Amino acid sequence: MSGLERLREELEQLKNQGRYRMPAVWESGSGPWMEIGGRRVLQMASNNYLGLTDHPRLKQAAIEATQKYGVGAGSVRTISGTLDVHDQLERELADFKGTEAALVFQSGFTTNQGVFGTLLGEEDIVISDELNHASIIDGIRLTKAARRIYKHKDMDSLEEALKGASGHRTRFIVTDGVFSMDGDIAPLPQIVELAERYDAVVCIDDAHASGVLGRCGKGTTDHFGLHGRVHIQIGTLSKAVGVVGGYAAGSQELKEYLIHKARPFLFSTSQTPAVAASCLEAIRVLRTSPELGERMWASANSFRSQLQRDGFDTGVSETPIIPIVIGDSARTMAFSARLLEEGVFAPGIVYPTVAADKGRVRFIVTAAHTADDLEFARQAVLKVGREFGLV
Ligand SMILES: *Cc1c(COP(=O)(O)O)cnc(C)c1O
Repeated sequence: MSGLERLREELEQLKNQGRYRMPAVWESGSGPWMEIGGRRVLQMASNNYLGLTDHPRLKQAAIEATQKYGVGAGSVRTISGTLDVHDQLERELADFKGTEAALVFQSGFTTNQGVFGTLLGEEDIVISDELNHASIIDGIRLTKAARRIYKHKDMDSLEEALKGASGHRTRFIVTDGVFSMDGDIAPLPQIVELAERYDAVVCIDDAHASGVLGRCGKGTTDHFGLHGRVHIQIGTLSKAVGVVGGYAAGSQELKEYLIHKARPFLFSTSQTPAVAASCLEAIRVLRTSPELGERMWASANSFRSQLQRDGFDTGVSETPIIPIVIGDSARTMAFSARLLEEGVFAPGIVYPTVAADKGRVRFIVTAAHTADDLEFARQAVLKVGREFGLV
């Protein structure tokens, strides 16, 4: 058998397991209502928490930067790819996050490749929440550091790992700020306390918390008032910020170290000028528009309580990420497909992303969803929920 025939076999296997899925192709931008197959559906799936993807000021910034600099940066950051828009973005990001410095990468994913692949060596140990994002797991895979997984948000489990880690040069705790599958928040104050007791570094990945938690969306550290006690704040510019990119915020030394060592920074072309300029404008919009976040939180809290009153199980959600737990994979995917027929798109999330019996349909409520939109969604969910005997 030649090399690639097994691909067909493995694809067949995925089909037999009901796990074969090609991406849907949408015909409009990421608003609350999107077009697919010529139909308009209410979309509750994107990470566009604040509706910034089509904000007029961000679009204008992208257009102006394209006119001024062209469409590409032309090089990696360390050669001729650091434009003044990249530099200004990093200055304002650091100021926004309350850190000395920030370094921007092409995505949140590559940020984690850069940070973990660079900071950790053989003598170190990384201690990671079991539900941390795939990009953290892959970043850790790039290092020779020892690794321990602690039970999700379980501080006894974290402490046990720390107790066994005293022989290492650096103890490095990493957690998501907001967990993307359940919508719960990391217990950062307790994590910081344990880190201080056991002399560990704290790194938080605020991908789903940037723009969502804290004053004006400054993140989990700000939400809990822990400025100065969290060593590394990773974030993405791809979710609530509405564009694409990632960053690591912390000390000036951290930034300079990453500039010299982080391979995605050194060996992959920098963000396009339009991307950097629209991210910069997004940060300015965040600072001056607290009402966006307030609207998102009010809508999310009311949608969640309504679903709960209707009798649905929304798990441990405490953010705009709101799952309804359905059960096994086939049933979950069928629920999501029926909802789409009713005009609401919320993806089914199934094994292996979550436990086999904990398949869920996941809703993300954004500032762009109106009360009418959410009532429309609720009626569709109720109708399908009754069909499935969930309520
Ligand atoms: C989405 C996500 C990322 C990846 O961010 P991108 O900018 O989309 O690459 C990284 N970490 C966490 C925790 C995420 O949820």
